[in-house]
Amino acid sequence: MADEGSIFADANTNLSDAKVVILGVPFDGTSSHRSGSAQAPAEIRKESYNFESYLSKYKFDIENAPIHDIGNTKEFSSVSELVARLPETIRECIVSDRFLITIGGEHSITLPIVKTHLEMHKPEDIGVIYFDAHLDFRESYLDEKYSHACVARRLAELVGVQRIVSVGVRSYSAEEAEALGNMKLRFYEADVVNKSEIKKLINETLDYLNVKKIYLTIDMDVLDPAYAPGVGNPEYFGLTPWHLRDAIEILAPSLIGADIVEVSPPYDNGNTAALAAQFIQILISNKLKD
Ligand code: MN
Ligand code: MN
Repeated sequence: MADEGSIFADANTNLSDAKVVILGVPFDGTSSHRSGSAQAPAEIRKESYNFESYLSKYKFDIENAPIHDIGNTKEFSSVSELVARLPETIRECIVSDRFLITIGGEHSITLPIVKTHLEMHKPEDIGVIYFDAHLDFRESYLDEKYSHACVARRLAELVGVQRIVSVGVRSYSAEEAEALGNMKLRFYEADVVNKSEIKKLINETLDYLNVKKIYLTIDMDVLDPAYAPGVGNPEYFGLTPWHLRDAIEILAPSLIGADIVEVSPPYDNGNTAALAAQFIQILISNKLKD
């Protein structure tokens, strides 16, 4: 699907030989504040050319690594179409245990991705780690239950609330506070993360989930706006890129897939897209090294 030059840097292996697949989902149909995340896949790919293909920290060169950029999905006209149709594309990307990295788009893309992973693995083996400033735990938002603001709630219903952990939270409504108390969602506030040893906290999360396979979703607004200003709903007092990098290093062996969502290029100075591209490189390196 992707043209040469519009692909993620060095992601030029054929799909059949690839161990990592990159997919863009240019959808921002339920954005509530700053829209524009539909432009993120193109911007993040563009910024990927800034970085060396050799990641010195991991002594890993992604230049000749088996990575395929399958391009973007079509532009879905509604969130219900996205939820219904995205799995078709996801299936071909994750067969043969390929590791899929999906670039959003807004957070609503995560539900159909996890749904497809559940179809292709034993559902009881899968847990979700949800990096986000927001809980996204509303029953419904603006009359839309598949809104980006309801994704963690839908995921909790799908995988079981005991198989999802939110990290970096610092914004939720009174309704969500009540729901998470009733449903006993496990989450770590950003202030707790900032005062803890992140590696310890992630290991504790893995013990709690007690599953073989982890799906990782990264809403870029989990980071402080000082690092990631160009997001749909910025929230201050956030995490640092070091937190997220440390978490990825620990999680990599368990990961079956990941997404990076909510980068909004019209509100960005280029840095948020570049940082997202760097996290994709970090995910690839940690997944493929050794
Ligand atoms: Mn979110
Ligand atoms: Mn968020």
